[in-house]
Amino acid sequence: MIQAESIVRSTCPYCGVGCQVNLHIKDEHIYKVDAPFQVAPNYGRLCAKGRFGVDFVHHPGRLTMPLIRKDFGVTPRQPVGLEGFREATWEEALELAARRITEIHQQHGPAAFGTFASAKVTNEDNYVFQKFVRGVLGSNNVDHCARLCHAASVTALTIAIGSSAMSNSIAEMKDLDVFIVTGSNTTETHPVISTFLREAVVNNQAKLIVVDPRQIEMTEFAEVWLRQQPGTDVAIFQAMAQVIVAEELFNQEFIDARTEGFKDYAAAIMDCTPEWAAEISGVPAEDIRTAARLFANARTGAIYWGMGISQSVHGVENALSLANLALLCGHIGKPGTGLNPLRGQNNVQGCSDSGGLPHVFTAYQPVADDAIRAKFEQDWGTTLNPEPGLTVMEMVDAAASKIIRAYLIMGENPLMSEPDLRHSRHVMEQMEFVLVQDIFLNETSEYADILFPATSFAEKGGTFTNTDRRVQLIRPAVPAPGQAREDWAILCDLAKRVEILLGRPASIGFDYAHPSDIWQEMARLTPAFQGIDHARIQREDGVHWPCPTPDHPGSPYLFEDTFPSGRGVFTALDVRPGAELPDPEYPFILSTGRVLYHWHGGTMTRRSKLDDIYPDPTVEVHPLDADALGLADGQWALVRSRRGQIKVKTIVTERSPQGVVFIPFHFAEAAANELTLDARDPKAKIPDYKMCAVALEPV
Ligand code: SF4
Repeated sequence: MIQAESIVRSTCPYCGVGCQVNLHIKDEHIYKVDAPFQVAPNYGRLCAKGRFGVDFVHHPGRLTMPLIRKDFGVTPRQPVGLEGFREATWEEALELAARRITEIHQQHGPAAFGTFASAKVTNEDNYVFQKFVRGVLGSNNVDHCARLCHAASVTALTIAIGSSAMSNSIAEMKDLDVFIVTGSNTTETHPVISTFLREAVVNNQAKLIVVDPRQIEMTEFAEVWLRQQPGTDVAIFQAMAQVIVAEELFNQEFIDARTEGFKDYAAAIMDCTPEWAAEISGVPAEDIRTAARLFANARTGAIYWGMGISQSVHGVENALSLANLALLCGHIGKPGTGLNPLRGQNNVQGCSDSGGLPHVFTAYQPVADDAIRAKFEQDWGTTLNPEPGLTVMEMVDAAASKIIRAYLIMGENPLMSEPDLRHSRHVMEQMEFVLVQDIFLNETSEYADILFPATSFAEKGGTFTNTDRRVQLIRPAVPAPGQAREDWAILCDLAKRVEILLGRPASIGFDYAHPSDIWQEMARLTPAFQGIDHARIQREDGVHWPCPTPDHPGSPYLFEDTFPSGRGVFTALDVRPGAELPDPEYPFILSTGRVLYHWHGGTMTRRSKLDDIYPDPTVEVHPLDADALGLADGQWALVRSRRGQIKVKTIVTERSPQGVVFIPFHFAEAAANELTLDARDPKAKIPDYKMCAVALEPV
């Protein structure tokens, strides 16, 4: 008998493309996923993760009850499985968490807390999270995994133009003229975006320039592929700029009207010739010239990049070198023409937009700005801390020196995502209190004192903001398992209890009936969101911020007339070596990244059917290196660095160049971050996940 079924529109919970999905429901189960054809941003397209990877929602390992650690309060703590916890009522778990937070606050003050917002949960969840941390705990120590993926892009674009968001929409991709893809294996990390980019080449004769050490699939569509040595990006892009200046291919009108510092910049880069860059990068000088001329002479020129640019000790310089190119050619401020860091997780853009960063409230309003802070103080009815807080990695340092004593973690898994995991685990063992809310027990929540079961994307409402700033709805489609609750609702109950225990005379406001109430408050305090509400998003299938008024159409592309900082700024850059170079003991460069069938720390995809397709941790090794090491395709290899070692399965392939190996970071049993080092970009504090030295041997 065919049973009644329903279809619920939602947003894919995986990558930043933000594909719209139809969840087909029968017997309270998602049994099929497809996509509406007429709706942006994906217009009916989905990748394997969106179409086949959401069965994690029904995985038997979902957390269904609040859990309290059986050896609560014992330090150093050890990771425990579910048998190391006991079930509790919400009342008991919330009361105990509130009491412990209050005790630590009274003994050590606001600086004792390190808190992790989440790129996986909704804007509304993140807004309430940072409101609790800033307004109740009095700390700005709130950060999230954007620090570990695009912090360098954010810092660089803020320096260059005063705004870090992607400047163009996905819909503009099909009409591209010339575009650069660099540090982004787009086909696997943003698969639906890669289809639009390939369509521009195949159907519209757009010209693609790929700059990447790996032979990623996008190279098959490239007019020019510059295969640089890892860590030499600045040399390539600065040499392209030198060609554009030397051959007077720059856009003088744009430079005069919209930028500053051109003369000094042009003088500073005159020795950065393609021949100079060729020596550093290994890329033939003539190819650099060809790419420079192609980009400069384009009708429109767009640049797309990923973590290959940003996750580096010189990530800010890498991204600044891209901004310099766009400013030189005036390739910004028009459709299909701009600077586009492709954001990773489903709501990494939205978590930052919602105040999940240590130095800003919503939509990048600085906490140190007296007028901005006064606005939030008046609305919330409290006094706020003017000092920017600590970043993710600074929180690890502060915890190691016993300044931070408690971690509050919502939907993040730092013990998979942080570099040099041995050090991160040691820090976690010493914490006085760890509170986690999540949907599964994972490498981080195994250290929790109290574990709150949260709802997944399919069991709640709210909004995600995708990589092109499009705010989109998710909707409840199936019941939450057991006693799991929405993150914002858990936080509201916790916040009110802490307020009472701290003796606050009045609450700063945690009585929301629905996520739309939370959005209304956020929009009231955020000029860029004031034209957006849940009803409008529903009507229009998503709205691009900035959208300052209800009659504003939203902003698919940015910077038509001006930059937020006024004029665009050129920056001449030095070429610096990586933090750890190969040597006889560790002769290979390790780069880490993603594969098509998995996502981030694997918390969701490893609990889906996708794990059957790609079940093992792998390492890509060039055939010449494999021969020299005696490694065969499919053989297990031991990979060692100065920090740790893992066992992975060998893929012999020319995708990675000789001397470079690539390991995906999704596998807890062979976490790539056991090997990486925590050397950081000095400005953005982002660790370098793309370059450290390792040795390999057959197992
Ligand atoms: Fe989901 Fe990204 Fe795949 Fe779209 S491209 S279906 S958002 S993982």
